Amino acid sequence: MAKDDDLDFETRAIHVGQGPDPSTGATITPVFQTVTYTQDAIGKNKGYEYSRGGNPTKEALEECLASLEGGSHALAYGSGMAAIAGAMQLARAGDHVVVADDLYGGSYRLFTQVLPEYGVEFSWVDGTRPEEIEKACRPETKIVWIESPTNPMLRLVDVAACAEIAHRNDALLVIDNTFATPYLQRPIELGADVVVHSTTKYVSGHSDVIGGAVVVNDAAIHETLFFTRNATGGVAGPWDAWLTLRGAKTLALRMEKHCENARSVAEFLLGRSEVERVHYPGLPDHPGHELAARQMSDFGGIVTLDLVGGGDAARRFAEHTKLFSLGESLGGVESLVGYPWTMSHGAFPAEEKERKGITEATVRLSVGIESASDLCADLAAALEA
Ligand SMILES: *Cc1c(COP(=O)(O)O)cnc(C)c1O
Repeated sequence: MAKDDDLDFETRAIHVGQGPDPSTGATITPVFQTVTYTQDAIGKNKGYEYSRGGNPTKEALEECLASLEGGSHALAYGSGMAAIAGAMQLARAGDHVVVADDLYGGSYRLFTQVLPEYGVEFSWVDGTRPEEIEKACRPETKIVWIESPTNPMLRLVDVAACAEIAHRNDALLVIDNTFATPYLQRPIELGADVVVHSTTKYVSGHSDVIGGAVVVNDAAIHETLFFTRNATGGVAGPWDAWLTLRGAKTLALRMEKHCENARSVAEFLLGRSEVERVHYPGLPDHPGHELAARQMSDFGGIVTLDLVGGGDAARRFAEHTKLFSLGESLGGVESLVGYPWTMSHGAFPAEEKERKGITEATVRLSVGIESASDLCADLAAALEA
């Protein structure tokens, strides 16, 4: 099947990059679990030599993801962090990066403890105020790095405004689109240059594979990243690529249900006296509500709440849900509950967490695609525990 821009998202998720296998007619893209490819003669092959460089299963996933994000090329990596580290290889020693500071913990670690050692400099700003990004830009600024919505407080960053600022300063806008997914938000259409994903989360969607991707809309950027990925080796394996591709086929259906369930859960929590505050971009009083409505097609599957009884109440609640498993990660079909203070954001200093709005009373829910009434009953029981 051709990469057909006229087809709708749901159709492209199932067909782009996934035509019948030319060697057998297999309808479903095979797992090409091979390291090497037998050559016809020295220097003569069918386009594949060694699977760190090229593998047809991985390439099927890449073609599909490029189409879903509206980019020209995608690169699949062995994890979301490998994808993020891969995208950061666009920066060289002496380059400067402006980061919107409400960031995934692993990116924070990479940007504070690893990359500065290699001569890349970072400035941290409040991404909800794009004018702060503008102020932080310098002649040597190479990348503006944002996330939206952010984790776990679901702050919204204006992607189009950030793209304009980045471009005015001759920098690239890179966005981690893991929380929104290309079904709800397509940053390249809003002006972003590079989109990164932890496909571990919604894109694969079943909590059974670690993976990452970078999507670009420029052949030269793709060539640089392809070269550095081959040189550094963080490529996705064929089996992981296959699982991710299988998950991506149902991304649209799953996201519809994640959003619908998250809305039900947010409304349920709003009506509970044990709950101090509900953070969900779909609620009209959320500070990013209007921006979310403008740049996303729906509000996503993550709901964060603060409990009235502080840390003790939050920890008791998080430990007493039954359908919501207590665990790291998000974006799978099954619901998860997390306690950011010591789990996802445990590595941040306390004052840093508080500045982000995370307190000991904060709990994050990744709302799955089970029955919404079962999920709300589970939450009710845990609130009463
Ligand atoms: C999980 C996550 C990552 C890291 O991805 P891994 O697949 O765990 O390496 C990066 N960004 C965001 C927003 C994430 O949620």
